[in-house]
Amino acid sequence: MSYVVGLTGGIASGKTTVANLFNQHFGIDVIDADIIARQVVEKGSKGLESISSRFGPNILLSDGTLNRAKLRDIVFTCEENKTWLNGLLHPMIREKMKVDIAKASSQYVLLVVPLLVENNLQNLTDRVLVVDVDEQTQLQRTMERDKVNLGQAQSIIAAQASRAEKLAIADDVIKNNAKNKELLPQITELHKKYLELSMRNRSE
Ligand code: ATP
Repeated sequence: MSYVVGLTGGIASGKTTVANLFNQHFGIDVIDADIIARQVVEKGSKGLESISSRFGPNILLSDGTLNRAKLRDIVFTCEENKTWLNGLLHPMIREKMKVDIAKASSQYVLLVVPLLVENNLQNLTDRVLVVDVDEQTQLQRTMERDKVNLGQAQSIIAAQASRAEKLAIADDVIKNNAKNKELLPQITELHKKYLELSMRNRSE
């Protein structure tokens, strides 16, 4: 079983940027919760079948894929539907993560989970790495990348676990306030540490 480093952080903190650097420089396999969340409801999946039998065929677009905007509206306006959907998808996502972890071939894997803290997925990981940014930088990067205004960016951030809550479960922290070039030295140090930890883990 691979050694699993959970990588988390708030919106636009730099998780994807960091994960790509681990992959490009050190060949580390990356498992992305956002991609898995889409796979479990792709066309032909059991997840999509369950959703369309509960909400009717109108929840599908004409090409048979999920109408995400419609589903978002449905769960946004009804707590019971939201609970039902989470009850369906969360176990599927967790199972798929386990399968992908088992398939990984690098010495350790990065499991990128934006809502690791909120969804309590730490128990799938051996260690948690938090990408941390100050709120000003986070707001700016969110507004620029997602073309949202200050109020929208603030409310997205407010709906997530706080910076302090994330840092409280961190074993390691990457600071991503400054420029990209300051990331690689931090990543290189962590990579060395994770190689050692994963080797120790194997021999135990
Ligand atoms: P989300 O979970 O919201 O998808 P994320 O945590 O994966 O976001 P990224 O997509 O890696 O974050 O980064 C968010 C934005 O900030 C991107 O546009 C990225 O190019 C930019 N960014 C990340 N790190 C830096 C940095 N060190 N310097 C400049 N820009 C950065």
